[in-house]
Amino acid sequence: MPPQPAKRSIIVGRSVTSDILDSLRSPAGTTRRSIEHVDEKRESWASSPATRASMRANRGRDTGPEMALRRALHARGRRFFVNRRPVKNLRRTADIVFPRAHLAVFVDGCFWHGCPEHHTMARTNAAYWRAKVETNRSRDRETVQLLTQQGWTVLRLWEHVSLDDAVAQVEGALVSPAVNSL
Ligand SMILES: [Zn+2]
Repeated sequence: MPPQPAKRSIIVGRSVTSDILDSLRSPAGTTRRSIEHVDEKRESWASSPATRASMRANRGRDTGPEMALRRALHARGRRFFVNRRPVKNLRRTADIVFPRAHLAVFVDGCFWHGCPEHHTMARTNAAYWRAKVETNRSRDRETVQLLTQQGWTVLRLWEHVSLDDAVAQVEGALVSPAVNSL
């Protein structure tokens, strides 16, 4: 079991810390999964951020918006890897990875990544949660920097973005000059 926060009065499943610890524990390459056919289970793209936060907290990965995006891209003939390190020796796992295009896509949960529109501060122990989200945000910025330095295009999508918009942004990045110049 990963270490748990001292305070447990707030019902928000997994901590950011445990997510990070989990990712650090994964030996190189074990996060790779093959291209998959997403199941037919219905996932709503835009239910409430609270629901999103809860799902994110409970499952860590494979959230509804992320799965909906994967399914939509797959249906449009796009092929990609899921939950994979874009750069093998860099301990950062992207949600959707297009190796040839050097495009890494992250679908960021509104709560955990501090969406300016939907992040609501916990009423209890606000400083504690604020610090956790700020840690995530700085890690996100660092991830963009590190991957960009390695020649990758990084696309971060808020989970509240509409599915159509998300698909358009991914496909736009796949044909952008930044990608083509690689
Ligand atoms: Zn949001």
